[in-house]
Amino acid sequence: MADGELKGRVAVVTGGNGGIGLGMARGLAGAGAAVVVSGRNADKSRRAVAELAALGAEAVAIEADVADEAAVNALIRGTVDRFGRLDVLVNNAGMNIRKPVQDLTLAEWRRVLDTNLTSAFLSCRAAYPIMKRGGGGKIINIGSMMSIFGTSFAPAYAASKGGIVQLTKAMASAWARDNIQVNAVLPGWIDTELTQNARREVQGLHDRVLARTPADRWGVPADLSGIAVFLGGPASDFVTGTAIPVDGGYSIQG
Ligand code: NDP
Repeated sequence: MADGELKGRVAVVTGGNGGIGLGMARGLAGAGAAVVVSGRNADKSRRAVAELAALGAEAVAIEADVADEAAVNALIRGTVDRFGRLDVLVNNAGMNIRKPVQDLTLAEWRRVLDTNLTSAFLSCRAAYPIMKRGGGGKIINIGSMMSIFGTSFAPAYAASKGGIVQLTKAMASAWARDNIQVNAVLPGWIDTELTQNARREVQGLHDRVLARTPADRWGVPADLSGIAVFLGGPASDFVTGTAIPVDGGYSIQG
């Protein structure tokens, strides 16, 4: 990927202060984009901004809970106030509550769906008029292997990640004429805080993932940098509505 391919572009990455989001933010920053990282934890966001600035990127943090409509609207508005445009929106913030469906409360179900799925509806809805006015845009929604497979311990998470793929297709077909491409990325098992917790809670998970992954390793956040640059830049202008696994082959293994 050529350096500077995203020069002059402005990206928002929700949950961009850690894990996969920061891996994608690093890719976008390295390609020349100005990056807004968003999250709830101000310390993490400060560290992420410093890291991106060290790559030579313009980077700022805007705090937002992605489940909060007003906060999401303020995030998009704040980005445009600061940079005057919005070219790339990465809907990455997410969480999981690992319980079988019979033990899940309605409040827990709603919390996962609000954070992982409704959040993307809210931010895309807020970003649409700005991207349209700017002549186009790129939206990258983060799904999961659970967009494809069922998992006994994560019913709300699997529903949210299945939903994100269908929402991606709906928006892709609605906004293609506005030159807005909407795609999903389905990460395999990536070593982050989220999956460190998963490995503590689900016995044998670490080894099961390794055994099923042809690449013979867990992913790292840097594995997601390249796809962010591809889907965030002009190389993907005729790519829309897809769900691309970045999984070391996990999803092709029977
Ligand atoms: P992490 O737990 O490391 O990071 C999650 C990020 O989301 C944090 O930056 C956190 O920021 C932010 N976040 C969580 N809830 C909210 C909220 N309500 N409002 C705003 N920000 C929020 O997880 P990952 O990096 O692993 O996960 C990132 C995405 O990738 C998620 O959507 C996850 O489902 C998905 N994914 C992860 C996989 C993996 O193997 N790791 C595999 C497939 C998909 P803060 O702490 O500041 O709130």
